[in-house]
Amino acid sequence: MLDGPVILVVEDEPDIQELICYHLEREHFATVKASTGDEALHIIKTSNPSLVLLDLMLPGISGIEVLKTIRYVLQLATLPVIIVSARTDESDIITGLELGADNYLPKPFNPKILVANVKALLRRAAASGQTDIADVSQIVSGHLRLDVVRHEAFWNDDPVLLTATEFAIMELFAKNVGRVFTRNQLISALRGESYPVTERSVDVQIASLRRKLNDGQNSIKTVWGIGYSFQDTQ
Ligand code: CA
Repeated sequence: MLDGPVILVVEDEPDIQELICYHLEREHFATVKASTGDEALHIIKTSNPSLVLLDLMLPGISGIEVLKTIRYVLQLATLPVIIVSARTDESDIITGLELGADNYLPKPFNPKILVANVKALLRRAAASGQTDIADVSQIVSGHLRLDVVRHEAFWNDDPVLLTATEFAIMELFAKNVGRVFTRNQLISALRGESYPVTERSVDVQIASLRRKLNDGQNSIKTVWGIGYSFQDTQ
């Protein structure tokens, strides 16, 4: 059998499916193909893929239903799922992210970004499988360092003074580098803070964070029509 990661490519358009598989196989990933939601679920139940690339518009069971089944029926909370979908499916993409997809890539996709996302998610999945009791008080991601005990943030070792809400957003980002969060997901993560959080106030918090990060402001990316993600690419 295959030793390395196996990527399940769920896509009903044969040309796109071929193209995705071509780029993954060129990077030495093994691929399994499904062109319907039923087929995808059958493969997930029987052959335990490492990651799923999921189209949303499928004949029969939709990609959203596949994702719901993965997370809530099969209870596969940690199986990485990347939605690959056209931007016209924006509301479905948001639903997908809120149902627990790890990321989304718009069609037409850039093959390099697709492969980079697959690699990043597999790395993250591997890392989260290891118990990390070494030092949970510090989160370091690129130029960012968070001391979660003292609630102190640093960029390039310079202190950045954040409010409690801003710190909570940065902590979520730093623990999930590259992951796209919808505004609603950020709101849910911030519930428990002492004042109401709205979609608009999320935008305000992000704007304030960017100002405070100075050189690092580009690390918080706006994902058009969807939400925000964090990636320190400098
Ligand atoms: Ca499709």
